[in-house]
Amino acid sequence: MKIYNTLSRKKETFKPIEKDFVSLYTCGPTVYNYAHIGNLRTYVFEDIFKRTLLSNGYKVKHVMNITDVGHLTSDEDEGEDKMDVAVAREKKTPEEIADFYADAFKEDISKLNILQPDIWCKATEHIADMIKLVERIEKNGYSYVGKNGNVYFDTSKFANYGNFAKLDLDNLQSGARIEIDEDKKHPRDFVLWFLTKGSKFKGHILKWNSPWGEGWPGWHIECSAMSIKYLGENFDIHCGGVDHISIHHTNEIAQAEAATGKKWVNYWLHGEFLIMKQGKMAKSVGNFVTLKSLTDKNYDPLAFRYMCLNTHYRKKLNFDWEGLDSARNALSTLRENIRILKETDGLKTAQEKIEDYRSKFLDAINDDLNMPRALEVVWKLIREEEHINNQKKYEILLEFDKILGLDLGRIETSSKIPKEIDALIKKREEYRKKKDWEKADEVREEIRKKGYIIEDAPEGIRVKPI
Ligand code: AMP
Ligand code: ZN
Repeated sequence: MKIYNTLSRKKETFKPIEKDFVSLYTCGPTVYNYAHIGNLRTYVFEDIFKRTLLSNGYKVKHVMNITDVGHLTSDEDEGEDKMDVAVAREKKTPEEIADFYADAFKEDISKLNILQPDIWCKATEHIADMIKLVERIEKNGYSYVGKNGNVYFDTSKFANYGNFAKLDLDNLQSGARIEIDEDKKHPRDFVLWFLTKGSKFKGHILKWNSPWGEGWPGWHIECSAMSIKYLGENFDIHCGGVDHISIHHTNEIAQAEAATGKKWVNYWLHGEFLIMKQGKMAKSVGNFVTLKSLTDKNYDPLAFRYMCLNTHYRKKLNFDWEGLDSARNALSTLRENIRILKETDGLKTAQEKIEDYRSKFLDAINDDLNMPRALEVVWKLIREEEHINNQKKYEILLEFDKILGLDLGRIETSSKIPKEIDALIKKREEYRKKKDWEKADEVREEIRKKGYIIEDAPEGIRVKPI
């Protein structure tokens, strides 16, 4: 299996630390609001990755955090705390807000057929682990306390700081998740522990005692602390979106490696952004699309999953409604074909041919998760007229679906298309197989008279009410 490792900026052959076992950490949601479909694209990519690992026979231990401690928004919003904003907006406690949006997130990912992590970890339940990690960083001499009492990570002490992101440190500008703060020795230094006393954010609701005084953890420490706790000081894979490379993951690495004195994560995978015509997905520009806004328009969430599969995870995905319509049509055609395959036989099976499709599919996914190529194999197999019996096709497609996660075994069309039409479709298929085109056309006409049309699309058969 080959994967593109952000550490080396190269495709590498994946080798886990322990034979047949993979430790995987994925940065989870902030729970002050609904996830948008950009976030969800990243979780779909991570799910495909995890399913690919599983299909390669690895046992996977997957950990995902829930960021419920409250963090400052970026300088766009002049640094209000997101949790405080949500509390004021919704008139609920921070716990209620976090629980509500964490549940909404879990519902979203289950609708997208994303496998649940083995361990969910909430930041607020791991403050002691974060404090311990900051103490280790401090003991090793990588931190300092500013005049305001905040504990900072001293990036000048960490020789490899910024290598990961190939940062131009001398010209590093303040940006998302870089705090503007006169107490820092250097702009790239970041907070490990915020102190209430001396903070501009006096109203910060969530705070805890610590050896440095009452306050709350910095923006990056939770992922280092919780991943080490559950996966160890050296583990296999860490994933997230590309926006996290330059700051969040760079700082996670600095914290973990400063504390342990050794290499932390072996492979880093990053998913590219979902973008809209208007650019970045952000509430402020009015293009914040949630999964609920898709389902409100009667889209199947899995149509969005199909859309994600159709673009390589390291390419930008341009989201628009026409694109989603095409994905929806392709998915419903795929399902319709699967249903027909399930219910019809066909020619005698040639085992080599099946193996050929299986290996093409696996080659595609094992080549840095090339899902668009894997989907091409799926469609080619559906269109394959010779050599493979329909039952076999059906079985392999369901096997592929363990990775695609499109729930292809779900027979939803039967409820919409009457049994009588189903039977006629099968009858027509039989004629087509015998190349009796005349009879096949007669059946098509009969179906039309009963109010349904059949389209022989390049991807297969599509049935629609007229
Ligand atoms: P956040 O809640 O901001 O930490 O984001 C959750 C996940 O979504 C992270 O892995 C981000 O890198 C990722 N993400 C944020 N915005 C987008 C986007 N527009 N497209 C794809 N992934 C995104
Ligand atoms: Zn993280």
